[in-house]
Amino acid sequence: MPETDQHANILAPISDEKNPLLEDWDASGGVPPFSRVSAEHFLPAYARALAEHEAQIASIARGPAPPTFADTIAVLERSGRTLERVDNVFHLLAGAHTNDALLEVERIMAPQIARHWNKIHTNAALFRRIDAVMQAAGTAGLDAEQKRVVERYHTSFRRSGAALDDPAKKRLAEIIERLAELGTAFSQNVLADEQAFVLRLATEAELAGLPGFMRESLRAEAFERELEGYAVTLSRSIVEPFLQFSGRRDLREKVFRAFVMRGDNGGTTDNKAIIAEMARLRAERARLLGYSDFAHYRLDDAMAKTPTAVRNLLETVWRPARASALADSDAMQALIQEEGGNFKLEPWDWRYYSEKLRRRICDFDEAAIKPYLSLDRIIEAAFYVAARLFGLKFTLRPDVPAWHPDVRVWQVSGAEGKEIGLFFGDYFARPSKRSGAWMTSLRDQQRLAGEITPHIVNVCNFAKAPAGEPTLLSFDDARTLFHEFGHALHGLLSAVTYPTIAGTNVVTDFVELPSQLYEHWLEQPELLRRIALHYQTGAAMPEELLQRLVAARNFNKGFATVEYIACAEVDLDLHSLPPPNAGDQALDARAFEAQSLARIAMPQEIVMRHRLPHFAHIFSGGGYAAGYYSYMWSEVLDADAFAAFEETGDIFDRTTAKRLRDCIYAAGGRQDPAEAYKSFRGRLPTADALLRKRGFAAGKAAVT
Ligand SMILES: [Zn+2]
Repeated sequence: MPETDQHANILAPISDEKNPLLEDWDASGGVPPFSRVSAEHFLPAYARALAEHEAQIASIARGPAPPTFADTIAVLERSGRTLERVDNVFHLLAGAHTNDALLEVERIMAPQIARHWNKIHTNAALFRRIDAVMQAAGTAGLDAEQKRVVERYHTSFRRSGAALDDPAKKRLAEIIERLAELGTAFSQNVLADEQAFVLRLATEAELAGLPGFMRESLRAEAFERELEGYAVTLSRSIVEPFLQFSGRRDLREKVFRAFVMRGDNGGTTDNKAIIAEMARLRAERARLLGYSDFAHYRLDDAMAKTPTAVRNLLETVWRPARASALADSDAMQALIQEEGGNFKLEPWDWRYYSEKLRRRICDFDEAAIKPYLSLDRIIEAAFYVAARLFGLKFTLRPDVPAWHPDVRVWQVSGAEGKEIGLFFGDYFARPSKRSGAWMTSLRDQQRLAGEITPHIVNVCNFAKAPAGEPTLLSFDDARTLFHEFGHALHGLLSAVTYPTIAGTNVVTDFVELPSQLYEHWLEQPELLRRIALHYQTGAAMPEELLQRLVAARNFNKGFATVEYIACAEVDLDLHSLPPPNAGDQALDARAFEAQSLARIAMPQEIVMRHRLPHFAHIFSGGGYAAGYYSYMWSEVLDADAFAAFEETGDIFDRTTAKRLRDCIYAAGGRQDPAEAYKSFRGRLPTADALLRKRGFAAGKAAVT
């Protein structure tokens, strides 16, 4: 996006013919002509796209009787494609390369779009048609995929309130619109708190303990902000290594506090009132739809089905994880004493002493690993695994337009050169990008409008090395890349007819399976020997170092599991609240969080991975609300699924890989997730492989 966008007049009238968002994009292979797209194009494009979609919906709702799959469901699947295109481009830019003008567009459009979808999902005439097609599905000669698509429509309309009376529908619409506004405000507040913090370091004393790569990242952060010296910012890929390496306890505390207080600082960017209102509105929404609380509403359409099933799983893992974390805490406290420190281990000390402990126990140094994990090597490794498992080939396509010069685009092809799609990798942190890592798409796979190949995007926030030097990753960064690439493959390998069930359009506690499963390959010595080569000498990682890296895999797993499960528990507690009665006090998010953590006996020296005031997974949009547990749920699945390869003695076993592709990666939401898993594995998963993998005592928990 050109610099001038910052000051673009987003309200300027632009004719449809002059709007690049409304062109057919054929000249650029279906990819948006990013160099010509700027913020002022979005409002007019949205206006056109929304009107077009509205007219399509009205015409479908008026269709002939009796309704059929073809004149109801199939046309619904074809409708709204302009809106989808505009939305996809907008969301990509709003996350990966935003500016003030785009933020303003987001504030204007988020409630309008929420209203638009709510109007469709509560359209009584349309729902009557969907309901009629659903009732006749058994006898209408539909194939399995078509039946599943009808069922998905029916479920989603019912859950959106299509069967409600008018006053209830009206209230639901108000709730949804307000939730969308609040979700946007929530993210913008977190971003504002992140941008407001810079800790500048200048002297050697302030840099104490920081290894060379860390200093370089901090220098790059300063440079991005036109500052001298070194700058600690609040992106996770800066904060975590800073806490791990900085020998300055006072600075660690300062950075830690700023990081965990995002959205909880009082003033205009504080998120606590937003959280209280969102929790209240979600509870009310669930009640309107006939559920006791939001968690029940949410889980009814998930693989887990009930909050009890989720709590059972979390409980199975929590006990051994907490015990393991507390043992680590004792070991670190002993280390502090041994060094003559006269203080109690605090949360800002955990990563620092855990690093010391790791060097002692596993004798393993993150800084020694990094030269073997250059970004380019890890990208190659991700491609290599995809080649071995699924026969995919990746070819750089510098000619394809992208939104920033750092973005790389690859053509993906399959057996005999069959075109699979495009893969966009946007790997470096920059101020215009929100923190985190994610997969998104510019275009989803489908066959309804001819063979439409997917255009899939991975966005990460790796600190970029200075010009001319390769970016080196930590092992965690490399794992993140593999994770997002697993999601990307779920989008790329999708082989369905209907867009509604394409790629990652599956229930949330199933969607992390393809991504988390993919991480397993990175951890295999067989792969590391091949791809972990020194960026200067090309030498393979010394075998001894490699063995230590693999052995260190379970180090600090108690901590990671505890900081994660705490989030899942608090999320579930918050969304299990019934709607408040008239006299109820407004929820105090900070007190609620503390209470919930006390219930599970959270160790004091560990904080939640995401405290409520910046828990974007559950408040920016509602993607993971009452659904954060799903990473753990998926981890049960992925550990169990990888065991299917291990059992054959070959991590690239062709037969298993083919089943994996057919039943999981290519299948989208074609099947009920439990059935899909069974068709891959021959049975439902158990938690045994997960507990083994994390180095915890084996327990027995079945996921049903
Ligand atoms: Zn993921």
